[in-house]
Amino acid sequence: MWRELQPIGRHPGSGGYRRFAWTGADRDCRDWFEEQARTRGLTYELDRNGNQWAWLGDPAAGDAVVTGSHLDSVPDGGAFDGPLGVVSSFAALDELRSRNAEFAKPLAIVNFGDEEGARFGLACVGSRLAAGELTVEAARQLRDGDGVSLPQAMEAAGHDPDAIGADPERLARIGAFVELHVEQGRALDLSGDRVGIASAIWPHGRWRFDFRGEANHAGTTRLVDRRDPMLSYAETVLAARREAALAGAVATFGKIAVEPNGVNAIPSLVRGWLDSRAADQATLDTVVSGIEKAAREYADEHGVQLDVVRESFTPVVEFEHALRDEIARILGREKEADLKVPVLGTGAGHDAGILSGSIPTAMLFVRNPTGVSHSPAEYAAEDDCVAGVTALADVLEGLACT
Ligand SMILES: [Zn+2]
Repeated sequence: MWRELQPIGRHPGSGGYRRFAWTGADRDCRDWFEEQARTRGLTYELDRNGNQWAWLGDPAAGDAVVTGSHLDSVPDGGAFDGPLGVVSSFAALDELRSRNAEFAKPLAIVNFGDEEGARFGLACVGSRLAAGELTVEAARQLRDGDGVSLPQAMEAAGHDPDAIGADPERLARIGAFVELHVEQGRALDLSGDRVGIASAIWPHGRWRFDFRGEANHAGTTRLVDRRDPMLSYAETVLAARREAALAGAVATFGKIAVEPNGVNAIPSLVRGWLDSRAADQATLDTVVSGIEKAAREYADEHGVQLDVVRESFTPVVEFEHALRDEIARILGREKEADLKVPVLGTGAGHDAGILSGSIPTAMLFVRNPTGVSHSPAEYAAEDDCVAGVTALADVLEGLACT
């Protein structure tokens, strides 16, 4: 499975993946998913919001145990974020069949569409739509960098955009959703464990900072006469780093757009996108308001106008304690008594977090020795991936089998 997925959407220059929603690479990943479902004799479904499902047993029976993740990527992403969860789900099912497991509940494997939000700027669109956390009206407004709207992109890829929207009937069939994911940090490496259980997802959001100054000639405009928004922006980037470090949080300006974007022109507009996350809401509020306050001072200093817009926000997600404890019990039972499975918080958002408002969800993390993610250097050792599959199979067996 890993070898088949490897070449899809891989950029020859960077070696990273560009599997963006509703593009050719996304379609190839989707074709692969459907083929995996069919070769295993599973019932394949594409839902209204572009999420793919592979069912063992009758979905209508209810109380289903669902596992899976996503196959799309960030720009120049790694091989593991998303695909490890989907591949491990199919491998765990194969493992359960080789154990002759008797299923008492329906089981499904899911590939959520557009998890990373790389193309339209909003993460977890597939699960947000299904859970009713993204309205149809708001989804229709989403546009990519070329001005293509989400409905246009869906239509071009052969998906009916008029079908999108909340899907409570589908979610009502699910008793538990467990997502396996490569760890996006080094907690497991530091603790010496192959697999961990998620405790919570930090609250996180995206803010757009528009610094508007005055375009002018880079050669003839005296420094004192300039209203250069790049200066205010640059100082704000440093402020973000400072505020985050003070609070034990993270804050990143990773995307920027400049107008007119000429080498010999002072910019008229610098638009920077801030991503910030913290362990709790109050800390996150402090960090972002601190950055905004600093940005306003820098803007005033340079005669620049500043507008800040919050583009998305996801509150803290505490994974359901009963399911989390059940999973810890299952994994503890399968291992030697002294081998603990650590419980970790994470700064990364996931479909499991979005769905936790509607259904019981949980996550397993697989060790990432460098902690690097959203980069071609993202990695998990084969032994650790196998340990993840075994742990997932144990969990699914404990939840779904007699
Ligand atoms: Zn992911």
